[in-house]
Amino acid sequence: MDFEPSQRCSEFKERLSAFMDEHIYPAEDVYERQLRDSGDPHHQPAIMEELKLLAREAGLWNMFLPDEEHGAGLSNSDYAPLAEILGRSRIASEACNCSAPDTGNMEVLHQFGTPEQKDRWLMPLLEGEIRSAFAMTEPDVASSDATNIGLRIERDGDEYVLNGRKWWITNVFHPNCRIMIVMGKTQPDAPTYTQQSQVLVPLDTPGVTVQRNLPVFGYIDQDGHGEILFENVRVPLSNVISKEGDGFMIAQARLGPGRIHHCMRAIGAAERALEKLCQRAVSRVTFGQPIAMRGNIQDWVAESRIEIEMARLLTLKAAWMMDTVGNRHARTEIAAIKVAAPNVALKVLDRAIQVHGGGGVTEDFGLASAYAHLRTLRLADGPDEVHKLSIARRELAPYMPREERAVGA
Ligand SMILES: Cc1cc2nc3c(=O)[nH]c(=O)nc-3n(C[C@H](O)[C@H](O)[C@H](O)COP(=O)(O)OP(=O)(O)OC[C@H]3O[C@@H](n4cnc5c(N)ncnc54)[C@H](O)[C@@H]3O)c2cc1C
Repeated sequence: MDFEPSQRCSEFKERLSAFMDEHIYPAEDVYERQLRDSGDPHHQPAIMEELKLLAREAGLWNMFLPDEEHGAGLSNSDYAPLAEILGRSRIASEACNCSAPDTGNMEVLHQFGTPEQKDRWLMPLLEGEIRSAFAMTEPDVASSDATNIGLRIERDGDEYVLNGRKWWITNVFHPNCRIMIVMGKTQPDAPTYTQQSQVLVPLDTPGVTVQRNLPVFGYIDQDGHGEILFENVRVPLSNVISKEGDGFMIAQARLGPGRIHHCMRAIGAAERALEKLCQRAVSRVTFGQPIAMRGNIQDWVAESRIEIEMARLLTLKAAWMMDTVGNRHARTEIAAIKVAAPNVALKVLDRAIQVHGGGGVTEDFGLASAYAHLRTLRLADGPDEVHKLSIARRELAPYMPREERAVGA
């Protein structure tokens, strides 16, 4: 593997880092203040729309999309270091139109959408005019096994009728959210992996009721996580993505790049937490010495550096394999980073919180909310255990009796 960033990547990194220094970091407090002053936790602060214009002007827009025409044309390896930089601030990804779940939804529409679906939904998403949600998880079934997903999508004339309940649907409280990609069962009697389909459902379709916002450790996220009831929701047959029965195939296709993005953002958050840890440790004095002089604190600093480097290199390896041998052959690495990166970031954040004392659990240093957010990454997009299961199955396969090898291969 070649660890040298390409010239293109280095050039983007330099411009993005300068943009973070000049515009994003100084806007963080403004964003929080505007959000707080509005009295609405889902308000879109004016500063965000200003940042979006600046990011566009700076050519730091849709960097996630490998397509040359609509995105920056960057490979996974080129984009990964940029996702790390974006992960340093909770407002950077949206400012650059690179935030989940829109990125995955745009990739899906770009790859599988019909010309009409692209015109109607992909273009405004690429322009940053609207936002979107991805609705798979259901409260009534263990959704980390996607074969359990039960929302019914039934044909009726030239329409689909949707009935069921979803939860943890990120973004539906964002004031700009207009469209959901909904996964459900069209053919319950088909073979297991062709029972599901994905359909486009505008948020304002009659029968869609967003019943409540789900807080994360008590935090109300600005984009929100909705529990949604679908009652006789009707959309035209032309809203199916790809074709009926392709739900699993599409879900698989969206996962690889999304995981690289999540993991590199987590590493960016870990780097920033380590910076804060070090700054605090050299400036606080106890018992006649800066905290940084204590052996255990130096051990935490060293462990953090080692773990961050390991997670970054593993993630870059996964990105490089996706670029060179394809997502299928990178399955073990993609699953591995999804476990490794959030856990490393959580460890570093936990140490940073400890070094900040009581201040660490307030919102004064941004550590507590970052911890809460990163903790959800051990669940969202598949819990750790499921990714470990898929790694272990491939690792064990050569030692299994021949007839059992196919299971989970
Ligand atoms: C902040 C946040 C945002 C989210 N955003 C979205 C979104 O936008 N759209 C969406 O559709 N979903 C979203 N989710 C849902 C998320 O993807 C699911 O919570 C996750 O896939 C797990 O599904 P579940 O909650 O049904 O857990 P379950 O499937 O009930 O699993 C519960 C636990 O069982 C254990 N477990 C499961 N399988 C195994 C196994 N094989 N071996 C050992 N242990 C196992 C794991 O510890 C797991 O955490 C989000 C979740 C969070 C917290």
